[in-house]
Amino acid sequence: MDNKNASVWVISGPSGVGKGTVCAALRRQRPEVFFSVSMTTRKPRPSETDGVSYHFVSDEHFRELVDAGEMLEHAVVHGLHSYGTPRRAVEEALAQGRPVVLEIDLQGARQVKENLPEAKLVFLQPPSWDELVKRLRGRGTEDEEAQSRRLETAKLELEAMAEADEVVENDDVEETVANLISLMGL
Ligand code: 5GP
Repeated sequence: MDNKNASVWVISGPSGVGKGTVCAALRRQRPEVFFSVSMTTRKPRPSETDGVSYHFVSDEHFRELVDAGEMLEHAVVHGLHSYGTPRRAVEEALAQGRPVVLEIDLQGARQVKENLPEAKLVFLQPPSWDELVKRLRGRGTEDEEAQSRRLETAKLELEAMAEADEVVENDDVEETVANLISLMGL
């Protein structure tokens, strides 16, 4: 991967901070950016489509892809399911000179920085801890136990903010997207 013009941006941050909403808005405004579609072993939520939100795969298939070196990074997130970034699609986008955005967790972000030192880690920060709790609880897609697990992970993820190359507060989505566009030189 030696395309000097292409850039890889890892967008990370605690669960519930609004990574998905921000990335969806950025995608609408900058269709030339390649947004990686992750693989996961978690089951699809009712609103999700295979191949769009994620590639939903079995544990066995996921393991095969990891063993074959097909994942740029992979991690077990919230101690439950595996998630990973398919390597080939990212390499193809970079070869075309397209900026790449990966919306992944911090474990994955660290691996990407090891594999691609030029990658930049952007950390989305909630306006406050109370706001994060409110957003996570209000999402209504998980039961109590899953919500608590996500809050525990979120605490650890907030502590890891110091590792980021850039920190962007996500209060108002449009403002956040404008900040990202400017930061990424898009
Ligand atoms: P969800 O299950 O809510 O869609 O995602 C849970 C978490 O998995 C999010 O924090 C998200 O950033 C992370 N995630 C999604 N895709 C990937 C991936 O490809 N790799 C890694 N390491 N984390 C991912």
